[in-house]
Amino acid sequence: MNNKLYGNLIFEYTHPGRQAYSLPQQEVPHTDLPAAMRREEDAQLPECDELTVVRHYTNHSQNNFGVNNGFYPLGSCTMKYNPIINEEMAALPQFSQLHPMQDTNTCQGALELYYNLQRMLSELSGLREFTLNPFAGAHGELTGLMIIRSYHEKRGDSKRTKVIVPDSAHGTNPASAAVCGLDILEVKSTKDGLVDVDDLKTLLQTEGENIAAMMMTNPNTLGLFEQQIPEIEKIIHECGGLMYYDGANFNPLLGVSRPGDMGFDVMHINLHKTFSTPHGGGGPGSGPVGVRQGLEEFLPTPRIVKKGDRFEVEGLNEGHSVGAFFGNFAVMLRAYAYILTLGKENIKMVGPLATLNANYIKESLKDDFELPIDVVCKHEFVFDGLKDKSTGVTTMDVAKRLLDYGFHAPTIYFPLLFHEALMVEPTENESIDTLDSFINVMHIIAKEARETPDIVKEAPHNTPIGRVDDVLAAKNPILTYTQFANQDGEN
Ligand SMILES: *Cc1c(COP(=O)(O)O)cnc(C)c1O
Repeated sequence: MNNKLYGNLIFEYTHPGRQAYSLPQQEVPHTDLPAAMRREEDAQLPECDELTVVRHYTNHSQNNFGVNNGFYPLGSCTMKYNPIINEEMAALPQFSQLHPMQDTNTCQGALELYYNLQRMLSELSGLREFTLNPFAGAHGELTGLMIIRSYHEKRGDSKRTKVIVPDSAHGTNPASAAVCGLDILEVKSTKDGLVDVDDLKTLLQTEGENIAAMMMTNPNTLGLFEQQIPEIEKIIHECGGLMYYDGANFNPLLGVSRPGDMGFDVMHINLHKTFSTPHGGGGPGSGPVGVRQGLEEFLPTPRIVKKGDRFEVEGLNEGHSVGAFFGNFAVMLRAYAYILTLGKENIKMVGPLATLNANYIKESLKDDFELPIDVVCKHEFVFDGLKDKSTGVTTMDVAKRLLDYGFHAPTIYFPLLFHEALMVEPTENESIDTLDSFINVMHIIAKEARETPDIVKEAPHNTPIGRVDDVLAAKNPILTYTQFANQDGEN
């Protein structure tokens, strides 16, 4: 352990009486708060000098790994670079000091931005109207399914309580359907990783009239474009269901093709994936939902509308809202800055470059890593572990070893279709030099697995903390400092 203050709590540096700063003598006399408003005992706060505090938190922040530290090819997450200008825009006090209930005369600029972003998402997706209210992709799914449920209810078609979800879907799809009170019917994938249309047809023979919607992710969780969408869309609509598009993987389609043109009725977009904004660890996010013409009335309130030259908030007190209010404005701001920075022409390069980068890595590594579905992918692809299974080195080991070489691990053990899944998504932002050094390191690890497997199995060796016991941490979490002190007795 070096002399950095790794891994400790600020409370461990406390010295009674030590202070980070002291206030000058006040000119006004001292007055005690009323006794009823005071604590009986002083709060237990750390007492440290300023430099200790600064070093402690700076060192902790440097233990974090983000896109600004290095390559972060986390499949399914689109960990793209968040340009600095986005942060500058989001930090402007004219935006960051807004109150959601302030008079609309005083925030026309913010409402205009909100409205313009709704229009831009419509143009990019081919859907008629958007709500920016939901706070995450999963929240967008729930909102979208509630819209679909309202649509069927309004037509008096109340027996439609089932949602079709492919077995390759992100876990949030069935979870959102369940939270919405809908039942889930799973449809299988073919060996090529696409929705099995024959299985779907069989399902519809008995369930057709109970189907509220089919949820599809495109490109799907294996990074593959669902080529049967026209046929699927046709048979679902024929039986009276709606088509829901999980647009979390919208990145490779940006400026190239539009879910609205493919016949989808409702979709969500993850602003925090496709339109930058750093995310992870549960936030921050934004999951706008778009609907085709004819479904606008089911969108949640409040809504931002344009009347003449003015922007208005509609439906603030209607009570129909699904509770999302105005959503995560700072994430919208970043998305808006990002779209304007790229502009109409450059945004068309995002999808093709993300696709090129993913295919470049896939083709460069498939001699050492098992590629179960060997086709051209979109923005991401999935290996099923090392090709040479005799070494005993698992996907987990490879992921840990990557940390030693300064790369964040790809997504592992997801999707669930393969035992040793290792899912890589480089995004369009990376240079060929970064892609090449990642490819090189992956080849080195494959060689180590053959020649000195223990080095890989015991990795990571260069990180502040080695392998953690995930199961112990989940089953016996230690959540308080005092307990921590009791457990290992050193503190
Ligand atoms: C990330 C993701 C989601 C969920 O989005 P959150 O913002 O994490 O709730 C849904 N579907 C797919 C395909 C995703 O990749």
